[in-house]
Amino acid sequence: MEKSTGGSLTLVGTPIGNLSDVSPRALAALHACDFIAAEDTRVTLTLLNHFDIKKPLISYHEHNKRERGTQICDRLAAGENAVLVSDAGLPAISDPGEDLVRLCHERHIPVTIVPGPCAAVTALALSGMPAGRFTFEGFLSVTKRVRREHLLSLQHETRTMIFYEAPHKLPATLRDMLEAFGDRELALVRELTKLHEEVIRTTLSAAAERFSAEAPRGEFVVIVGGVPQETQKATFTAEQAAALARDYVAEGMSASAAAKTAAAETGVKKSEIYRILVEE
Ligand code: SAM
Repeated sequence: MEKSTGGSLTLVGTPIGNLSDVSPRALAALHACDFIAAEDTRVTLTLLNHFDIKKPLISYHEHNKRERGTQICDRLAAGENAVLVSDAGLPAISDPGEDLVRLCHERHIPVTIVPGPCAAVTALALSGMPAGRFTFEGFLSVTKRVRREHLLSLQHETRTMIFYEAPHKLPATLRDMLEAFGDRELALVRELTKLHEEVIRTTLSAAAERFSAEAPRGEFVVIVGGVPQETQKATFTAEQAAALARDYVAEGMSASAAAKTAAAETGVKKSEIYRILVEE
């Protein structure tokens, strides 16, 4: 790799609730840099004010990452040193940062990291769910079909699955998960490192029922058990395949084409899916 004579980017993990979790190295990096690129400058300003740090802030988020990424890299190449933070937790993990890090690597700009809390692994550690092998799935899409496809693609997953979800979407997500996976072991880990930190060890069916009647409050990590060993050979049910086909029909496909596509994706016979569709 070419040796760079310019500045560098430091990713800094910030607390996911409790400000005392900020590390001495994180504070040192924030003090030492020339400027801070932040997902939301108002959120980061609160953190900086708490620690009496004064630094120029620029926003770097999903909607400006392309042009802002280039601008940041230009400044780094010219010799400045920057820190990248997200609103909370580790940058680049379901948060802006991935593109900027890739761009820096492409331009041979040194990147380093001050690790900090990450809600996903913190929740897993606290959940008591099997942590030997796990998969991080981030947020589910808001598009119904994409969500369903994502969930169905995980139907045979044997590892523990970790999802992020906003509280107002949690009831629907639990229902969709129940439909895709059947009943499973579940841990809802909420308000990590905050006053109301809680691990709700339950099942998908019980949680779906509970939160159809009660509004979830706070931030949640959803941890779902993988396929239990005794049922690892399970396949898609005809009803699950038909539900996928219904989404395709709603998007304008003919019943026949929808049944064919869903059959290819699930392994359920096209004729069986078509029969369910036309019987409706
Ligand atoms: N990059 C962050 C990280 O590494 O932790 C994650 C950012 S993502 C935009 C925000 C999601 O993380 C929330 O919707 C929630 O699912 C989860 N989360 C963040 N802080 C949390 C907390 N204190 N307790 C539980 N979940 C949390």
